[in-house]
Amino acid sequence: MTVFDMTRAQLQQFLVDHGMKRFRADQIFHYIYKQSVFSWEDMVLLPKGDRSRLEELLPIYFPTVVSSLEAPDGQTVKLLLQLHDGNTVETVLMKHDYGNSVCLSSQVGCAVNCAFCASAKNGFVRNLTAGEIMLQLLAFRRYVTDELHSIVLMGTGEPLLNYDNVLQFLHVLHEKDGLYLSYRNMTLSTAGIVPRIYDLADEGIPITLAISLHAPSDALRRRIMPIAETYSVADIVRAADVYFQKTGRKVTYEYILIRDVTCSLSCAKELVQLLKGKNILVNAIPINDNYDVGLYRPAEADMDAFVSYVRRHGLSITLRREMGSQIQAACGQLRIKRETI
Ligand code: SAH
Repeated sequence: MTVFDMTRAQLQQFLVDHGMKRFRADQIFHYIYKQSVFSWEDMVLLPKGDRSRLEELLPIYFPTVVSSLEAPDGQTVKLLLQLHDGNTVETVLMKHDYGNSVCLSSQVGCAVNCAFCASAKNGFVRNLTAGEIMLQLLAFRRYVTDELHSIVLMGTGEPLLNYDNVLQFLHVLHEKDGLYLSYRNMTLSTAGIVPRIYDLADEGIPITLAISLHAPSDALRRRIMPIAETYSVADIVRAADVYFQKTGRKVTYEYILIRDVTCSLSCAKELVQLLKGKNILVNAIPINDNYDVGLYRPAEADMDAFVSYVRRHGLSITLRREMGSQIQAACGQLRIKRETI
């Protein structure tokens, strides 16, 4: 347990249990989340005794920056962070017109193993704690910028396979005396762990759900996503509909465009059949070429044809000109590069 894992109420309880004053929790939250002070020693408003006690009970290991890359256009900054056990995680800041969005990892490595994604290539290592997810955000505030508009859980890992820690992180992030980020500015992206989507719909937190659908049929999806053996497209869409009914939040379907695989007009037709009439958004993403497995970005004309077919047939669709491809910011690429050197 670290201080970054705790809600304000949990920290208050912890302090009381260890003979300290409840109200110190507010001061500690203020130091961490408002002033970016990350050492007990420097929290000078706390009594010296408390500071050394906390040093012992809740030591702070702030991640170190192993490498930092900024895209030539300045719109993307990527940090590779080292955790106290030596594992590394990558975190990406994306500057949009509407503000800064930070893309966070939820696991070290990934077990889902999608064909196009680099995150699982060295296997699954472990879940991140709630505090370690928070520390990625705090590292950006400390080293890059403290202006934050939104977060997306779209980095390495499958957040719904680390459900409890991810939920705890979201609660801490929403703390009034913490960063107090609105749930509406949080997005969780999942490969479609159906039972956990139903659980999430019942949490009473209106975060945006993004589903990595990537293919409109089970047969095609199985070719690129092994998780499709476990959960069918129909089951995923049903769960997403329930998510929308219960939270009122429009679901985003992510759809990766891969040359000769997912970018055909027949795929576009199937996608329209699957989703027509629903209040959803499709986010088409040109693949970042993956030479190891021979999956490539389609020609621009093919991507435009796909998108305009889907749009003409009534779905809301955007084509994400992906950010970060120049700095290997996409999807586990930086971490893998480092670990294979
Ligand atoms: N496991 C979660 C979150 C991490 S992946 C999920 O599957 O949604 C975040 C997004 O990046 C997903 O939509 C994923 O499919 C996409 N992605 C992975 N590899 C990619 C690549 N090579 N090019 C473009 N997008 C990719």
